[in-house]
Amino acid sequence: MIIEGRVRVNGKTVTELGVKVSGEDAVEVDGHLLEQSDQKVYFILYKPRGVISAAKDDKNRKVVTDFFQDIPQRIYPVGRLDYDTSGLVLMTNDGDLANKLMHPRYHVNKTYVAKVKGIPESNELERLRHGVLLDKTHKSSPAKTKLMSVDKKKNTALVSLTIHEGKYHQVKRMLKSVGHPVEKLKRETYGFLNLDGLTSGDFRKLTNQEITALK
Ligand code: URA
Repeated sequence: MIIEGRVRVNGKTVTELGVKVSGEDAVEVDGHLLEQSDQKVYFILYKPRGVISAAKDDKNRKVVTDFFQDIPQRIYPVGRLDYDTSGLVLMTNDGDLANKLMHPRYHVNKTYVAKVKGIPESNELERLRHGVLLDKTHKSSPAKTKLMSVDKKKNTALVSLTIHEGKYHQVKRMLKSVGHPVEKLKRETYGFLNLDGLTSGDFRKLTNQEITALK
């Protein structure tokens, strides 16, 4: 194909047999761009409840990578959502970006909406804003929180909570520690990314602009 002049790398027809390319290079054959398995790709997935945030599960439950069987790259989730939590999961094969975003120093805000038992009082929300004890030794960083709606008949409420940490079961533990166990949890945003236009189980590629802004 190279001899026939059908191959272009970064827009230029190549003549050298055995030319080397990297994941950054755009390779075209007959004008069609090839997808390389080491090409960096970035998606957001609207994870349904009942899906594991991992590439495989020893109990054979559905995992987030099951949604991406048609792509050649091996991607994985950046951070985790609990099995029974729905919402936004960033998926990529870019290990450098994943490590950077997951580093505690790199504060990515994540907003969750929780359906909780009982109706939180303003002093309880104030405690969440200041940070609460998650266990004997760990305290959460200050959070943004808002009471979104209440259902007096069912004695439940919807609370939004924005945090930048990602400790194990953090949102559930924070709300439990002020007396309001979580019944349902959804992650609505990850940094500037949100779920607009997606329904449960959908995913989309990030735009080049979004990728640049994340890096
Ligand atoms: N906090 C939780 O408790 N669970 C999640 O899945 C995410 C944040």
